[in-house]
Amino acid sequence: MSRIAYVNGQYVPFREARVHIEDRGYQLGDGVYEVCEIRNGALVDERRHLLRLERSLSELRMTMPVTQSALRFVMAETVRRNRVKDGLIYLQVTRGVARRDHGFPEEVIKAALVVTVRALDRKKIEKAAEVGIAVITVPDDRWGRVDIKTIGLLPNVLARQKAKDAGAKDAWFVDSEGLVTEGAASNAWIVTKDDVLVTRPSSNRILTGITRTVAKEIAIKLQMTVEERAFSVAEALAANEAFLTSATQTVMPVISIDGHKIASGKPGPVTKRLREEFHRTAEIGPKIV
Ligand code: PMP
Repeated sequence: MSRIAYVNGQYVPFREARVHIEDRGYQLGDGVYEVCEIRNGALVDERRHLLRLERSLSELRMTMPVTQSALRFVMAETVRRNRVKDGLIYLQVTRGVARRDHGFPEEVIKAALVVTVRALDRKKIEKAAEVGIAVITVPDDRWGRVDIKTIGLLPNVLARQKAKDAGAKDAWFVDSEGLVTEGAASNAWIVTKDDVLVTRPSSNRILTGITRTVAKEIAIKLQMTVEERAFSVAEALAANEAFLTSATQTVMPVISIDGHKIASGKPGPVTKRLREEFHRTAEIGPKIV
């Protein structure tokens, strides 16, 4: 079956999906996005992802291009038309098309909304989770507002490629004080020797991941101790466990950092427990396909 994309009010064949060359997203990175997991034909944590989208837009002094309910309809319809049961849905909102100029266009322009859906190989992700993944560290050279989920991802692109070149799966950004901020497309966590879960607090230095929020809820439900504070690479290397969270990987064990094994170099019990519990705690929407 051929893929369908939603582009500015129309469902079009994926191959023919186009935006104008003067779209401000294309030229200036002037836009935001969201990624939501699709599992067993239903959207995972859609409500929270849409709240974050609204927040990202407001930081760009934009509003939702369509009402929440219209957007929910479009999302469900795009999933339905693509018949994807396990995968991800990608939403992108840019300021729209205007003559290239850095300041906002003076005339009123329509924001551009694109929605796409992609199948994910769940077995491959599960296999990776069974053995855990390697990460490398890179200096965090991003701008000061990474709490906004903008489409401007060049440092993340370069970090991920560096990880790939090194045979690792992800890169963890490290600030000028040697403290881990987050992953190139995930939030970073450790479990200390005292079984305390540690992750960096919400601020303008990280994206507050929806999966991170759910993982925190699970940990509290399971009476684990969570400390929101920054941790160093050295502390991570001395930890019992490390893992990352993101909508596409949920809770993924990290077994080495910069080639150094964490503990035994195998996924730990706390990480496994959080991963198992994830879809019991996340908000699962109605079945679409
Ligand atoms: N940080 C960054 C930089 C990301 O790109 C992502 C993935 N979108 C996350 C954290 C994790 O966020 P979420 O759990 O909402 O996918």
